[in-house]
Formats: sequence, C-alpha cells, structure tokens
Amino acid sequence: MKIFLLLFAVFLSACAQKPAFETFPKIDAHVHLNTTDDSFVQLLRDNNLMLMTLVTGSVSQSEIEKEFRYARDLYRAHPTSIAFATTFSMDGFGEPDWEENTIKWLGKSFDEGAIAVKVWKDIGMVFRDKEDNFILIDDPRLDPIFDFIESRDKTLVNHNGEPKNCWLPLDEMTVFGDSSYFAEHPQYHMYLHPDYPSYEALNAARDRMLEKHPNLRYVGCHLGSLEWSVDELAETLDKYSNMSVDMAARIVHFQVQDSDKVRTFILKYQDRVLYGTDIQISEKNNSVGSKEQAQEMFEEVWLLDWEYFTSDKLFQQKDKDKEYKGLNLPEEVLEKIYYKNAIRMYPGFG
Ligand SMILES: [Zn+2]
Repeated sequence: MKIFLLLFAVFLSACAQKPAFETFPKIDAHVHLNTTDDSFVQLLRDNNLMLMTLVTGSVSQSEIEKEFRYARDLYRAHPTSIAFATTFSMDGFGEPDWEENTIKWLGKSFDEGAIAVKVWKDIGMVFRDKEDNFILIDDPRLDPIFDFIESRDKTLVNHNGEPKNCWLPLDEMTVFGDSSYFAEHPQYHMYLHPDYPSYEALNAARDRMLEKHPNLRYVGCHLGSLEWSVDELAETLDKYSNMSVDMAARIVHFQVQDSDKVRTFILKYQDRVLYGTDIQISEKNNSVGSKEQAQEMFEEVWLLDWEYFTSDKLFQQKDKDKEYKGLNLPEEVLEKIYYKNAIRMYPGFG
C-alpha cells in the first residue's frame, strides 16, 4: 500500500512538472536589436533562447542600412542565436525606378542573411500618394515586392495598423498600457484623428492583400491587430491559411480576455501563433550594456511570460485591480508556439 501511495505521488508530481525554462528551446520571434555590443548573447545561450530581430520602419535608405548592419553583424557573429528581417524604404515610391531599386536591395539583404521582410505600420498610417491618399498595404504598386519576397521563399512580417484601443476614447481602452500611452501621445491616438484610415479600413486592406497573395508566407505582428478578440482573430486565421501571428507586446490582451477562452483558442490555433515580445536592446541606452538590458528583459518579460503560458497560477495585473489565470499549456503546444512555428514560418532560422 505504501509503495502504491509513493508511486502515485511520484506519478502526480511527474504530471505537474512543467518543462524547465533554461533548457526548453525558445525563439522570441519579434525583437529589435540595435547594438554592436553582443555581450547579451551569453544569456541567450545559457537559456536556450534565440531571437528574431526585425529591421523596422520604411525610413530613408541610409537609416535602414544603419539598422540593417546591427542585425546582419549580430547574425553573422551568432548565426545559431540570432536571425533577422530586413525592410525597404518608401523614398521614391511611385517613381519609375522604385520597384527595381527595392527588389535589388531586398535581394542583397537576402544574400547577406535576411530571412524575412518587415513592413511597418507607416505603410497605411503615414505615407500618402500625390493625391494625398494614404498608401495602404494592398496598394498594387507593392504587389511586385510581395511577389519577389514569395519567389525567394522569404516571409513577409507585417505590423499593420494599431490595437483597436487606438480608435477608442481613453476611458474605453481595455489595457492601461494603451490608455496611458495614448494620453501622452495624442498625435498617435486615432480616435482624435478621424481623417486617418479607420481600424476597419486598415484590416480590410491587409485582408485584400492576403487574398491577392495566397502563397506568400505572412506573419501578422501583434496578433494581427486583432488582439482584442480571439474570436475575431480566429475568423481571420480561418480565412487566410498563409497567415500566422506573433504575440509581440500583446500578451496583455490575452490576459484581459477570458482565460479559458484564450486557452481554447491557442489549443485550436497552436500551429499559427508565435511567441514574441517586441523587446529592444539598443545602443541608444548607452549607460546600460546589452548584457544588463537583456538580464532585465529576462526577469521582467521572458520569465514572466513563461510562467503565464506554463502554469495555472493566478497573477495580478500590474495596472488593473484584476487577476488572470495562467494558461498551463501542454508541452507539445509550448514547443510549437515557442519554437516550431517560428522555424516553419521563418525558414533559414538557426
Ligand atoms: Zn516591434
């Protein structure tokens, strides 16, 4: 009897045992590394963690190249820990040689190791054509670029639009991070700017682009800007089989939704969701080395997210007087959201 009880206790503890963070293979599929200081890489190695850094913003070619060099050099020095996405400039968009120059630059980027192309929200919310209309992601002049990305077997990684909260009044926003940010940055608070494209118009443009490019591998950043409802996100994922999403900076939006519902969503779409954070390690932060910045992220982001996905603990929201429950995901689902989905969506990683 004693032996039976002992065995039963061992069995129970084996069931409750969750995988160890340090050894479990993990990819953070959405970070921004803008530094030549690679002292943070040891922390990655010690924790079996790899990073996908995204060169971001369709700014001038010289600014893009500066950010590109950070990413490429980190990749070259640490190809098993770091991969990267390039981007392209919108300078000269609409002029006859823009398409050719952009394709040439992207080809060079791929030859130097980029495995994806990031398109930021500035396409949709900043650039306008000669008639002063916003240039949206489904603009036909972008189609040859997306065709080229597909022909080279690379991935389009796209931050399109903003969280829905951006179009709501401050007191209707669902997470404190958004309401405090938009209170301080009214210029980005779209509720105050009805002359800009609407939330719905930006998502519809993305959908039309996906319809035109059914074989383009596509990762929608930030839960595809459908962070507020797993039902809405599920509907879009059902429509576009080439689309996956990263969770960068939107895990908090999972946490304000019903946890059983979020868990059910992740179990159902376990092949379509990539772990990501949007953390930055930057030279601009020059009083603190990259190793210290990474250590801070390790404690404040990577470990806490891991607790959320692997345990069923109750957590207290930082900003609201509300609790949320850990998702306690099965190990084979963790393997997908933390590793396998990123490997599949970003061929050439590692
Ligand atoms: Zn980002």
